[in-house]
Amino acid sequence: MEINAKKGLLRPDILFSTIYEITPAFLLERGIRGVVFDIDNTIAPYEIERPTEKMKAYLLALKESGIQVAFVSNNRNDRTVLFNEELGFPCYCNAKKPFPGKTKQAVRDFKIRPDQAVAIGDQLFTDCLSAHLARMEFFIVPPIRDKRTWFFRLKRRMERPFLKSLKKYPEYARKGENRQ
Ligand SMILES: [Mg+2]
Repeated sequence: MEINAKKGLLRPDILFSTIYEITPAFLLERGIRGVVFDIDNTIAPYEIERPTEKMKAYLLALKESGIQVAFVSNNRNDRTVLFNEELGFPCYCNAKKPFPGKTKQAVRDFKIRPDQAVAIGDQLFTDCLSAHLARMEFFIVPPIRDKRTWFFRLKRRMERPFLKSLKKYPEYARKGENRQ
């Protein structure tokens, strides 16, 4: 997909403040029919085991507008299964992102093309890279709550140059850079 080739594998396509800014209308207008979500720090912080009412309402609104939803997480099976219990979306755990295998599988299982899908996550070196390797668009949201370990701090520091010049939605939309 030329958008990603131009921007580079580690350049997200759009930055949003939270997932709730990414509305069904916006996705449909962009030709998106399926969304692959990261869970941890994208939808919910690590310590939240089950989705809140707000999270559920948002995810179900996507589904009701005809957009397919799946979870692709590097986290363990028990975490993802519990989080997904009430939602029942296709769920792929131990995904080993940045390897794109499970992300690609999720899109194949949607029965749509990669350019009709988007991945949404909080991390460049796992979520963004796996999405672009799967030839999909990638929307980034800032992590809800980081683990305060040296490893996470280092990772965030390494991400900074890639995020610096990124335009934030809705500035992005105002500049008429939508695909259509
Ligand atoms: Mg994450």
